[in-house]
Amino acid sequence: MQDKLNEYAKLLVEVGLAVQKGQTLVIASPVECAPFARLCASAAYAVGCREVVMNWSDDMLARERYLRADDAVFDEVPEWNKHLYNDYAAQGAAYLAISAKDPEAFKGVDPKRISRSQIARYTALDPFYSAQMANELPWCIGSVPIPSWAKKVFPDVREREAVEQLWDAIFEAVRVTGDGKAVERWRAHLDTLDRHTKRLNELHFRTLHYSNSLGTDLTIELPEDHVWSAGAATNSKGQTFVPNMPTEEIFTAPLKTGVNGVVYAALPLVINGNVADRFRFVLKDGRIVETHAETGEEFLREAIAVDGNASYLGEVALVPYDSPISNQGILYYNTLFDENARCHLAFGRAYPECVRGGEKMSNDELAAHGLNISAAHDDFMIGTADLSIVGTTYGGEQVPVFTDGNFAI
Ligand code: ZN
Ligand code: ZN
Repeated sequence: MQDKLNEYAKLLVEVGLAVQKGQTLVIASPVECAPFARLCASAAYAVGCREVVMNWSDDMLARERYLRADDAVFDEVPEWNKHLYNDYAAQGAAYLAISAKDPEAFKGVDPKRISRSQIARYTALDPFYSAQMANELPWCIGSVPIPSWAKKVFPDVREREAVEQLWDAIFEAVRVTGDGKAVERWRAHLDTLDRHTKRLNELHFRTLHYSNSLGTDLTIELPEDHVWSAGAATNSKGQTFVPNMPTEEIFTAPLKTGVNGVVYAALPLVINGNVADRFRFVLKDGRIVETHAETGEEFLREAIAVDGNASYLGEVALVPYDSPISNQGILYYNTLFDENARCHLAFGRAYPECVRGGEKMSNDELAAHGLNISAAHDDFMIGTADLSIVGTTYGGEQVPVFTDGNFAI
């Protein structure tokens, strides 16, 4: 076990972020994950990191705050918090986020307080978020189990066993076996993703049409200068990093006003500490005009109303149904994993890299290229075993992209 933990920490630091000699590393971690965060810090110092700065969080306290703090605090971000994020981003630090959450941590919390906090942070931490979205800030999200989350994923076993099973599942998903070769396996994996990405960019589709037996019937127009990306990103200083570990997706952005039809969710979605399930969106000219859910409809409605653009889409991502995480057959209740098991879309902000030269564009320029700008960015999973995606090129040629849930190109 210790070998696997060390290998995983090294993988996040050396492949996830490629921490440079003399570079500062900020680690955002739940307090429950402190032992693993320490391993990551140690792996970073081993490659010459200048300093590791910890940003601890605690969902239990975050919940208490949402329930009991003075109502005014949800519209505020204190100066010290702005400095923590924006100053380190400006200094060229790397940013590691450890994602481990009780999927229902915020059950009973007023969703308005969550969305108000989201808007306040988005505004106050704009230099940090903009650098992250444009891939200027090397960032990586990894994940380790905590008991409350593990019990949600494996409800039928005792807590200790659930945590062990979730560790096994995560190690498999991130290709860590304890043999010390995870870094090589990741290099090969990133090459494979690159091949499909190149093919999609060559095909240069004008639209994609999605359909399946759930009832999805959706046409997505792509910006004319859209770019498909996957796996690794490189910033202007030449530092190559992998924003999500695991990652199986190839993604681009939709044309903000070019999405029409109905799309059904294929998996439950954890949204702001609550679960939404069996939902569908109806879209017209890019905007979500109808939201129906058997569970958690109010949380979806709040999430797509965070600002005026949260109800438009910002990401189109392809993941084969027959892929390593999907084949585990585990519902993780954590988007970092579930999004890499299924084709998905996101409502909210688009990544600048999804149009040619986008990383250097202002928000206004990105919007002029058809990308959506919003405080929200939430992936939701739509891929099924019978999903069909047909691309139409600018010449009018129709090309099957996905047949029966898997790549056809
Ligand atoms: Zn995604
Ligand atoms: Zn996303």
